[in-house]
Amino acid sequence: MELKDKNLYYVGGVVRDEILGLPSLDIDYCYEGDAIKFAKSRGLNIIKENPDFGTVRVFFEEQEIDIASTRTERYPKPGHLPVVEQIGCPLIDDLKRRDFTVNAMAKNTLSGEIYDYFDSQKDLKSKKLRVLHKNSFIDDPSRIIRGLKFLARFGFELDIETKVLQEEYLENINYDMSYHRIKKELRESFNLNSDKLLQKFINEKIYKLLSPEQAIPEIKGSAEALVNLVKIHNPWIVYAGLFDLSTLELTKDEADIIGAFDNLKTVSFESEWGLYRMFSGCPLESVILWGLVREYDLAYHYLKSLRQIKPSVTGNDLIKLGVERGKLYKEIFDFLAEEKLKNPELTKEEELELIKSKYL
Ligand code: ATP
Ligand code: MG
Repeated sequence: MELKDKNLYYVGGVVRDEILGLPSLDIDYCYEGDAIKFAKSRGLNIIKENPDFGTVRVFFEEQEIDIASTRTERYPKPGHLPVVEQIGCPLIDDLKRRDFTVNAMAKNTLSGEIYDYFDSQKDLKSKKLRVLHKNSFIDDPSRIIRGLKFLARFGFELDIETKVLQEEYLENINYDMSYHRIKKELRESFNLNSDKLLQKFINEKIYKLLSPEQAIPEIKGSAEALVNLVKIHNPWIVYAGLFDLSTLELTKDEADIIGAFDNLKTVSFESEWGLYRMFSGCPLESVILWGLVREYDLAYHYLKSLRQIKPSVTGNDLIKLGVERGKLYKEIFDFLAEEKLKNPELTKEEELELIKSKYL
């Protein structure tokens, strides 16, 4: 059974997805009025409530559901997080604060009626992203990156007036903004298949949002093709890492990737073995970044083949041979790796023979 009430609506992305005939990632409910009072009056099992925002999380039919009160917001400082102005406002005012018309519909949970005040369904049909007012990007520039996300996911394009507003904003960015949301949207936008998005990010100068002085990278090949060769946890950084990310708060892993990438730019190598050594211990994301701006074919070669080449001999084998643990181990493994690169067909027995003849 679903939760139903005459004042309770599905809102935003979930209505959009339903009209598109697609499954939703999450379901957002909004209550026209005070959602916390509603949850209490219905005797719902409340897990968490946040009176400042008028939101409540309940446990219903084995599921956690978030219900927001209708609210209006105000931006005390452009680009910063908004503050709540009124909780329990009319539905239409809640819908007005949203990013694009396609995300500003509500569907009544009881009657199933769709509330479409801004020609959202028309825009949805013609795959247009249209902001609800002309200050939208000034209030919240992360909406520009949300636009990219919906381009990637659904093939939506900016409506012409919205495109002009985006261009105007990108010509005159207020860098005193909340980068937290920018990062969140980048993470969600740049996914596994994002070559097209990267082109747009560059061509439309959206990268300028990140920081004032951005060098524009010259991309040497398909990021997608490199990403598809390996398993990585954070595809977004393979795209965004081509730009200056100093305004974003990075996790340790992300910072390590950027650090190793910066390092790679200064290292040189002379042979395949040199390349192998240069990349060993480097996060794969850093290798991809290096390939995208430096030697694409070499990065491809490393990610596809070279990195798989490893000696068959193990530490245990060395112990059996009577080699004492210590510095010699690393030397032997380096030697074997180099031999193996020269001749990937080398068998374990041949590796052992090589060790015996050189070291024992
Ligand atoms: P997804 O399928 O990725 O969840 P979504 O459109 O549902 O997409 P959410 O981030 O879940 O996006 O946000 C839910 C709704 O909240 C959106 O549909 C939109 O109406 C509104 N919203 C989200 N982010 C913003 C924003 N930055 N500015 C204005 N409205 C927003
Ligand atoms: Mg959603």
